[in-house]
Amino acid sequence: MTTTTPPPTPSLAQRAAVHVMPTYGEPRATFVRGQGSMLFEADGTAWLDLLCGLAVTSLGHAHPAVARAVGEQATTLVHTSNLYLTPPAVELAERLARITGWSDAKVFLAQCGATANEAAIKLARRHGKAQHPEKVRVVALEGSFHGRTLATLEATGQPAKHVPYEPLSGLVDHVPFDDPQALTAAVGDQTCAVLLEVVQGEGGVRPVPPEVLAAARDACDAHGALLIADEVQTGMGRTGPWFAFQETEVVPDVLTVAKALANGLPIGACIAHGAAAEVFGPGDHATTFGGNPVTCAAANAVIDTIEQGGLLGQAASRSRRLVAGLTSMIGTAPYAAGVRGRGLLLGLELDAAVAAEVEAACRDRNLLVNAVAPDVLRLAPPLTISREEVDLALATIADALRAVAVTHP
Ligand code: PLP
Repeated sequence: MTTTTPPPTPSLAQRAAVHVMPTYGEPRATFVRGQGSMLFEADGTAWLDLLCGLAVTSLGHAHPAVARAVGEQATTLVHTSNLYLTPPAVELAERLARITGWSDAKVFLAQCGATANEAAIKLARRHGKAQHPEKVRVVALEGSFHGRTLATLEATGQPAKHVPYEPLSGLVDHVPFDDPQALTAAVGDQTCAVLLEVVQGEGGVRPVPPEVLAAARDACDAHGALLIADEVQTGMGRTGPWFAFQETEVVPDVLTVAKALANGLPIGACIAHGAAAEVFGPGDHATTFGGNPVTCAAANAVIDTIEQGGLLGQAASRSRRLVAGLTSMIGTAPYAAGVRGRGLLLGLELDAAVAAEVEAACRDRNLLVNAVAPDVLRLAPPLTISREEVDLALATIADALRAVAVTHP
């Protein structure tokens, strides 16, 4: 009697290769569960997550308060559209007004960072066109990242990302991220907005110099344009305060936030105050899913948890520990050359273009960080990370640096 062996069960990666568009390249691991700062594979292998799904899960994975809020809301009311009001969306707008410190803030709720920025760009155009029909141009910074929709892609100061989608509108002017004079010169009467990150995240964890922020504010005031701070990555305590601009001398007219707002559920918000808050009227902008009660309930739980747990203060203390540990690697571990960033959005500068190799060596040691530039390793741990987890991450990074030095002499 002959026996036939059943064909091997395909892995998730093999199945994904068949039916998932390959926009993200080779998958690097498969996770089935998360808890706090840890992610787990199906066989139970634990990984320390210092990337937080690209600066998203700031309260750690499976946070009980968020899980409870999602569960309760999912069994109460999931969706109504924006033709009707639901308590979680209004309560979120109120909370965002409180933590921005803008008592006159008005909020448009979107689905992600790109759609929050789309709302902000449309708002600025509407504001500009009310002054002059050609006041529709946007000034943005080189190296910036604002999203992948057509308008936010064009605002993104990374020309290589534009090429496959050209022609674009031609209405965005990019200036160097560290040149206040160039920014002042680029803003004119046709400019409706200056759009910038306070710390460029995807651009390599690069804090924008205070002089550039001040020049942006002054140029916007001089020309009746709106200053939009894209705090999609820096917001919700990632760099220290609720929003990175709150540690600067400059107050934007419009703020966008997403990523960590609902600790992993898709959400974005465009928050305006002053005259900018009065721009949109009925029919000017809309979305089916924005303001979804479940995602808003999660965001409300995130804000309450950060406030009640004093997590901004705790994150500042973990940041000091992490910065001290990374700084001590300079001169003692191979490649380590500098530390930049703010709060828990940090970049370890390397003196060679080996960040991808170091990321891979960290992965070999079950630590998630990422090569945000050829010579910069990004760390974005949860605000809830423990001291012991910080120390484990530091020891692992040092070990990974040494391992890369052995294989890349
Ligand atoms: N703005 C900034 C500063 C970002 O870092 C990102 C994403 O990395 C975006 C916008 C786009 O956000 P999303 O991917 O949620 O559309």
